[in-house]
Amino acid sequence: MNSRAPGRAKRRATGPAGDHAVRLDSVGRRYGTGDHAVRLDSVGRQYGTGDRAVTALAEVSLAFPKGTFTAVMGPSGSGKSTLLQCAAGLDRPTSGSVVVGGTELTGLSERRLTLLRRERIGFVFQSFNLLPSLTAEQNVALPLRLAGRRPSRARVREALAQVGLGDRARHRPTELSGGQQQRVALARALITRPEVLFGDEPTGALDSQTGREVLTLLRGMVDREGQTVVMVTHDPVAASYADHVAFLVDGRVDGALSGAGADRIAAHLTRLETTPC
Ligand code: ADP
Repeated sequence: MNSRAPGRAKRRATGPAGDHAVRLDSVGRRYGTGDHAVRLDSVGRQYGTGDRAVTALAEVSLAFPKGTFTAVMGPSGSGKSTLLQCAAGLDRPTSGSVVVGGTELTGLSERRLTLLRRERIGFVFQSFNLLPSLTAEQNVALPLRLAGRRPSRARVREALAQVGLGDRARHRPTELSGGQQQRVALARALITRPEVLFGDEPTGALDSQTGREVLTLLRGMVDREGQTVVMVTHDPVAASYADHVAFLVDGRVDGALSGAGADRIAAHLTRLETTPC
């Protein structure tokens, strides 16, 4: 296994990641008011009540520094998706606080939360979620149209060009490969220039070569544009593209690695999956 993802080494040598890495090494503890794109403080999420209550997240405190790429990993059912949904304002925690770019999400009305998600947060899913009847450029323009803006064709084309699809603007999703569809989804997520881009297994439905292309794009957006990316993945190779990896077990943060290659990440994950609670 090639344990070092291309691109990241350069970033670590030249960028401010070293600073951030120190802070994220103490992942799971409480944070000061640093320069974070997203910050979760003692976040809990319980589903159901009484005998049927499930604690998906318990006292999770995590901060995602601006301009960094973080992967979230853990065994199935450890709370990764719930964490991402709470951090992105798609779900409401039962307790604790989530702050996106200085805005506290807890207590926001549904309307304000929807506006914040639309304008300040990008999300990509494993299943792309493109609208099949729309062309690539219409899909990419959608978030701005929903916000009542009229995106210029130049801006939409630029977003598609950024993901290497400048020549596919008029194609519909069925006329595109899986990797191309995910790149359209990326362009759509980034057209609003969100403060943070969340990905829930964004390469989960792609073959490894295509997945690597998407990860290289994400890495480039962090390195070149200062984009903040938070990605749930079960794949150590995918996670090795990130600056930091935070691990969850049973809804709690259980360690973190910074600048780790795929082998080290895989070994850490195996330990978590085989250690009895
Ligand atoms: P992961 O993404 O790590 O697989 P999830 O965040 O999906 O984990 O789930 C964490 C826990 O919360 C699991 O035990 C799961 O069964 C439970 N859970 C998730 N969503 C719901 C829901 N809507 N209702 C009840 N339990 C849920």
